[in-house]
Amino acid sequence: MTAALDRAATELLPAGPRLVAHDAAVFALREKRDAAGSAEPDFERLREYARAAKAHTLDHLDLYLERFEARATAAGAIVHWAEDAPALNRIVHALLAERGARQVVKSKSMLTEECGLNPYLESRGIEVVDTDLGERIVQLGHEPPSHIIMPAIHRTREDIGALFARELDVPAGETDPARLTEAARRHLRGHFLGADAAITGANFAVAETGTLVVVTNEGNADLGMSLPKLHIACLGLEKLVPGLADLAVFLRLLARSATGQPISVYTSLVTGPRPDSELHIVLVDNGRTRLLADEHHKRALGCIRCGACLNTCPVYRRAGGHAYGFAIPGPIGAVLAPALGRTAEQRRLPLASTLCGSCTAVCPVKIDLHEQLIAWRATDVPRGARERWLARLAARVLASPALYQLAGRAARVVWPVLSRRWPGNPAAAWLAARALPEHPGASFRARWRARRREGVQ
Ligand code: SF4
Repeated sequence: MTAALDRAATELLPAGPRLVAHDAAVFALREKRDAAGSAEPDFERLREYARAAKAHTLDHLDLYLERFEARATAAGAIVHWAEDAPALNRIVHALLAERGARQVVKSKSMLTEECGLNPYLESRGIEVVDTDLGERIVQLGHEPPSHIIMPAIHRTREDIGALFARELDVPAGETDPARLTEAARRHLRGHFLGADAAITGANFAVAETGTLVVVTNEGNADLGMSLPKLHIACLGLEKLVPGLADLAVFLRLLARSATGQPISVYTSLVTGPRPDSELHIVLVDNGRTRLLADEHHKRALGCIRCGACLNTCPVYRRAGGHAYGFAIPGPIGAVLAPALGRTAEQRRLPLASTLCGSCTAVCPVKIDLHEQLIAWRATDVPRGARERWLARLAARVLASPALYQLAGRAARVVWPVLSRRWPGNPAAAWLAARALPEHPGASFRARWRARRREGVQ
């Protein structure tokens, strides 16, 4: 874990009830995913199909992008290409400015978070209202999303009640989720009705038909793109799937892996604009072709942004999404950051992992996430002197059975003494801050024998 990540994690989720609630809420999603996967007899076959389909699409991405552009254009959409984040922001702003649009409703899109579209438009006098409930909560709270499908999962209902009392005139002390949601609906409805344009992302883009696929549980994207006469869809190049048959597989995997649902509540397929309306599709590179040229890491472009790897990750669950300092947190964020991130701190994110491999085990498209993290660590992840020294020491200890045993014995003797004599020592303080169980001070074997002696199975 990097020092900056640790600092940010402690600020966002200090030890105590907030951290426990976050851990439980996130892990509940993982459990729902497991139950949904077990209930689907073909789950593993679907995962294998999805892995192969993504690998094939990425190997022939040029072909599928051209096919998508041709079919979408034939259906009446206008396709734009953005090389990087500034290009995306300029294209979207120009489209809005040329039509005099001042109010925009936007549905959740991690790509626009990655490219900083909201602040860019707002600094030019365009009001952007995020319409996903979680996204609106973090927007009103002036903070970034902390999860890719549950942007406000780090907030308790008390936090949201206080925020809505301040921003939406909800009675102080209101914490009932149904009444808070109703207040948000009333607030957002006015924005939907008054919007000049809608901006959405897309979960998939079907090359065979030039179709955009937008998946939500709230219907906010569907309502947003049905009312104004201008719809701008922003998506990364990697969202392509070859055909509708492939799409069916990805839809079955996405909802099950994200929230444990058999299917998301709303799945909208958009092929061309509505009558008397405009549909602009912006295909964004922003570092993706660089990743595509990397034979090993290009597999990360297969990500369908389900969030399952975040939900199972012990680092994410205890650190929270803001700690990563990158638009996409968790294991997939740590894999993408060295290629797509802009700062040295973001490129160090592969260090923020225990390498337990749980992320790889749950990924619906079978991205070898922990292997990718190891591969990044072996290449150009910038390290501080302390990390280099610790890595060298660990390598020496792990390479020698004698040293390893000696270190284990020393830890068992030294740890209890250290904790007793120096309760505020950095290791103990860190453990307390992350609400981890205390170090047992004995080997697993010794504890197991003791439990057997006590009759505990
Ligand atoms: S890497 Fe896999 S598990 Fe993680 S968000 Fe992407 S698709 Fe889901």
